[in-house]
Amino acid sequence: MNPEQYTNREQSIGWQVLSREIARSNPDLYKTGLLTSLGQGTAYSWKAWDSLRQRGCISSDRLIIDPNQAISITRKLTERSLTTITIGAVPWSEDLKRRAIFEDEKFNYQKEKRYIFSHELAHVFFANSQQGGALHRFYNNVIIKSRREGDKGFTGLGGLEFYKNKKNGGPDTQALEDVVELINMYLVDPDYLNRYLSYLSDDKYQQSRIDNSLVSLGSGSQESIFQIIMYATFSHYLFSQ
Ligand SMILES: [Zn+2]
Repeated sequence: MNPEQYTNREQSIGWQVLSREIARSNPDLYKTGLLTSLGQGTAYSWKAWDSLRQRGCISSDRLIIDPNQAISITRKLTERSLTTITIGAVPWSEDLKRRAIFEDEKFNYQKEKRYIFSHELAHVFFANSQQGGALHRFYNNVIIKSRREGDKGFTGLGGLEFYKNKKNGGPDTQALEDVVELINMYLVDPDYLNRYLSYLSDDKYQQSRIDNSLVSLGSGSQESIFQIIMYATFSHYLFSQ
């Protein structure tokens, strides 16, 4: 499925149609609406979907809409080519949104589900990305280290109690969520990632970062992290077609 092919059908099955009720009564329509929304409302997430689909890493058959849960999850069945993405159609609580999503006040239901879907795609992208590049060095040397040693992270999503729980992986899982979420921010909107990195850098948000166990970036880090994420997505097969 190519999200581009849906862009002309906006009027009939545009993203406005997304609701928990549609997820329950017509999951296929919800799925189509989600892909349409990805094509219309993100800078690069739809491209990630399309490239990963063409490589056989994901398919619309293995995109599941679950009307009864709020949590979305990506499961790798056996090989890297067999991945199942389940999108939970129950809206997130305001509290969860506030903790996990930057600028959460700008997220309505549709935007929330599109964003989470994109986050799951970023998981698949990262799992299939090249080891040994700048992104993986940053992940291993900085993100994992700050979770393991400093109990500080790069994103609110990675800081959720659910991931913090040792049963769910603890610091290493938190670090994985951090790097995936930074990739997601870029895929959704590069400027959104940039604003978020400013939040991690600017002195005036220092107390907010302390309250949320987030790292504070030194001067120059904002620019270099942005470049690492950008080059990792652009230099990869993702955009090489
Ligand atoms: Zn995740």
